Amino acid sequence: MLENYVECRWIAGTGEGEPLTDPVTGEELARVSTEGLDLGAALAYARNTGGPALRELTFAARAKMLDAIAKLFISRRPAYMEIARANSGNTERDASFDIDGAIGTLRYYAKLGSGLGDTNHVRDGEPFPLGRDASLQAVHLATPRTGAAIHINAFNFPAWGTWEKAAVSLLAGVPVVTKPASSTALLAWQMVRDVVDANLLPAGALTLLAGGVRDLLDHVDSADVIAFTGSADTAARVRGHQRVIARAVRVNCEADSLNAIILGPDSTDVDLFVSETVREMTLRTGQKCTAIRRALIPRAKATEVTEALRAALANVRVGDPRKADVQMGPVVSKRQQQSVRDGLAQLARETSPVFDGSNAAIDADDPSRGAFVAPMLLEARDPGAASAVHDIEVFGPVATLLPYDSIEDAFALAARGRGSLVTSVVTSDETLARDAALRLAQTNGRVMILNESVRAANPGHGTVMPSCIHGGPGRAGAGEELGGLRGLWFYLQRTAVQGPESYVRALAASSAALS
Ligand code: NAP
Repeated sequence: MLENYVECRWIAGTGEGEPLTDPVTGEELARVSTEGLDLGAALAYARNTGGPALRELTFAARAKMLDAIAKLFISRRPAYMEIARANSGNTERDASFDIDGAIGTLRYYAKLGSGLGDTNHVRDGEPFPLGRDASLQAVHLATPRTGAAIHINAFNFPAWGTWEKAAVSLLAGVPVVTKPASSTALLAWQMVRDVVDANLLPAGALTLLAGGVRDLLDHVDSADVIAFTGSADTAARVRGHQRVIARAVRVNCEADSLNAIILGPDSTDVDLFVSETVREMTLRTGQKCTAIRRALIPRAKATEVTEALRAALANVRVGDPRKADVQMGPVVSKRQQQSVRDGLAQLARETSPVFDGSNAAIDADDPSRGAFVAPMLLEARDPGAASAVHDIEVFGPVATLLPYDSIEDAFALAARGRGSLVTSVVTSDETLARDAALRLAQTNGRVMILNESVRAANPGHGTVMPSCIHGGPGRAGAGEELGGLRGLWFYLQRTAVQGPESYVRALAASSAALS
């Protein structure tokens, strides 16, 4: 039984717990449980012990802690890669995306934090006069919230999900109560264990709940914040929780999303479009919130693009990630395998398969024991009339082609996702790129314009850069994380301070400029 880290102690939950398995063999690796824990006391300890200790520190000092955590993780990387293989069925590439993503984000925020210097409050803008003369002035200051930051994460990014949130929260000076998804908690657990053993954070700054969320939200209070990542259904439950509403708790939700890529009518970069689509379908076996689910192509190019996609997908070798040639491992559990099958059955009502990898051999000792899913490319029979392809996120190596007649149709189809994390547009037409950015902005947290000129620099459609905001409107959760220093606002309380000019100017001078 993996222990929880609460009130600076490692405590095992009671009961049978939830099993964590190896999705290749089905073997049980560990169990998690939060049964028997006093979650109200855990939150209170974070608020009352971790909060004051972190708020004492300046941004520069907190940044040093993040840097030390990143260095520790670099030294422990081989062990983490092994856990990612065992508990998430990750290939080397998949595990790197999660683990190196976590390390990169920590390092990025360590650097930003050191730039904020030796202060522990920030300002939003400069002082300005309020009255007829300059004697009375105002400045917007921001200070760390005095509650705990509750981080609830999804199963698909146990490392990155944990640390992209924790990095921003700790830098802001707010203690973290992190809850990884139960099924893949082993990696997050090991990383927290290592940070605790290395004594890198003040007491109470980090709490780990390995197991179910239980009654945690019944104990939240007004100064707390909740950063949630997961499905839209669970996000709605978190947002609608009675205590969360009653105490007006600040909530950020990162939920699921029907992301799109559009091949511009002008574009000759078919290979770029194909490589983006195939990578997004197969990286982490399609279990990425930002993965391409809908690929929009000009009807006139449908045959050419479909053939190129078929050829690329035929090369993807599925199997046990421990085997050298395997490019795509299983999904994380038998439950997720069933969920992909159920989703495919729903999409089948309005799509036809154009590539079905399920006849290819699976490179594993006993494929029947694993949670393997073949890549599946579908084509919508009538993209405009379809509804499931714009609504059901099949969380696996699945995408649907949507042929369009005009770019206006393409924009309208992309918007049918009711709010997405990201849409990419492959085009070399500057006017189209501008129209796309402005038209897609309302329904996307991120818009990426791609063509041959950015091939070398392109991190990929699905890569979340800590310098850019991550989140999306509507069903994507209506949230916003990261975005460099912008990410700190969620954890800070902004206050307009008004007073005599010299007092206000002195306060402003002792703060760091956040915007
Ligand atoms: P999920 O079932 O919604 O679970 C997410 C987290 O919520 C887990 O830690 C889960 O704990 C917890 N949880 C379950 N019931 C809860 C409740 N009543 N109140 C509060 N928390 C509760 O999602 P998932 O299956 O782990 O993750 C896959 C989904 O996440 C996909 O839809 C994907 O698109 C989305 N996702 C979005 C982003 C993004 O940044 N937008 C990133 C990654 C994933 P247990 O595991 O213990 O049940």
